[in-house]
Amino acid sequence: MFTTKFCAPFKTTTNKGSLWKCQNVPHKILNKNNEIVKLQPFNSKTSIIVNIDYYLNDFYEFHNDEEYIYTPHYPNGKIPITEFDIKPISIKKLKTYFAEYNIINAIEKVEHDSFQSKGNNNCITIDKYKKFISNPSTSKLERIGDPIFNRLVRHSPPISKLYTREEFENCLSYPAPIGIREEDFALPSEQNKILIELLNQIFSCQNAPLVPINIQNELNLDIKPNSHKCLWCGHIIDIAELNQKYCSKVHSINFCHRIPEIGTKLGNVYIGHYICNREQGGYSEEQRIEQIIRLAKNNPIYKQKILNELI
Ligand SMILES: [Zn+2]
Repeated sequence: MFTTKFCAPFKTTTNKGSLWKCQNVPHKILNKNNEIVKLQPFNSKTSIIVNIDYYLNDFYEFHNDEEYIYTPHYPNGKIPITEFDIKPISIKKLKTYFAEYNIINAIEKVEHDSFQSKGNNNCITIDKYKKFISNPSTSKLERIGDPIFNRLVRHSPPISKLYTREEFENCLSYPAPIGIREEDFALPSEQNKILIELLNQIFSCQNAPLVPINIQNELNLDIKPNSHKCLWCGHIIDIAELNQKYCSKVHSINFCHRIPEIGTKLGNVYIGHYICNREQGGYSEEQRIEQIIRLAKNNPIYKQKILNELI
């Protein structure tokens, strides 16, 4: 028998009025007595203390064994317990070293997107939520809130694309947000790997500056100079393209997804051309290949052209 070590709130509320406490996020029970419970939320660095009555009413406990905690609200119905102790890799030294270089924008963008889910302007603010709770609107015509947070760590509960507005309006947390987009989800260990993979890509661009060897070793970087290609057009990306346009309004470079539907996952995301990403559209690389094959099958000229190109 294992004693209970994890629990989660039934609904999203605010913690001390300034931070969201999100429904179904596992909380590690650090300390529990007759008066208070000290909890460490999976998706926050800050521990919280709640009184025992609040705990008994507003939290449910998870089943866990030595390896996993079991929850239907996370992919595969479980979370490896080791993920609770994985901290985001610090790239402070790297950022300090390149603080005066243009490349800092790309480094910061990569860091941000490795650890944070995307924004959502429809998400209710904490201030508006508090007003709603004290004086709930009865107008069904007014659309309030959204299930998706306006940015949160990527190991928060993913919300299915099939989740409906009606389900949201009927859930306990409404109109507070309840999770992140499915494609934004990644466990802490995967987020760290994504960060290192994208840093490797930045510093493997043509003409990229050299990373001091001690920082390379510390971060376990695997830089292959002048080798990073956009997979859609096959061209090596020059660091000048990345520096000048990475964060400008008209992007020239952005994160490209080999299978757009599954989002920023390890092996699925790379730094490529914006225009190439547009050309690929919402389709996966494989879907595009299947479309070309279908076209060529019905058109002998195309078929011959493809055969000639591939010889
Ligand atoms: Zn390209």
